[in-house]
Amino acid sequence: MRLLLLELEKHFRPITKLKKPLADQFQFEVDVAPQLYSVDYAAFNTDRGQWNAEHVLAQMRSGFAEAPYSVVLAYFPYDAYAHNYKRVFGIADNNGKVALVAYHYLDPAFHGEANDELFLDRLLKKSTHHVGHALGLSHCSRRSCVMNFSRNLLFLDRKTPNFCNKCRFLL
Ligand SMILES: [Zn+2]
Ligand SMILES: [Zn+2]
Repeated sequence: MRLLLLELEKHFRPITKLKKPLADQFQFEVDVAPQLYSVDYAAFNTDRGQWNAEHVLAQMRSGFAEAPYSVVLAYFPYDAYAHNYKRVFGIADNNGKVALVAYHYLDPAFHGEANDELFLDRLLKKSTHHVGHALGLSHCSRRSCVMNFSRNLLFLDRKTPNFCNKCRFLL
């Protein structure tokens, strides 16, 4: 199994630090795409001043349909929403090939207190969670499990970056 990590719109330095933990987490080979990818501006909702994460995901779905990877995970730098959510930190095709992490609000620096370690911890949890969805996992009721639904950053920071035994078994 192979996982591709890529940067949308902007270079994203932490991407190289996520490669090894994600390889360990899934026992996958992990590649980082050398080039930057851009998003079609049609995914921007001018009324909301936000990006439609589902449109961005749809662009990835068609762009990477033939790519030789089990999952393609993209890091998106801007504020994004999805149908029922005013803001999303990530989205994925369930049992599909593409996943997205929208990291703008995950960065503690955005909230006025830079903390690279916390930022990386959040990125690893969101990355693992959405690759988990792409591999077919649903939300898990165990609070510590990485597949537990995080309605906000408090929930995200409370859970661990790991799968519970049940989710690990289902992977
Ligand atoms: Zn989820
Ligand atoms: Zn679980």
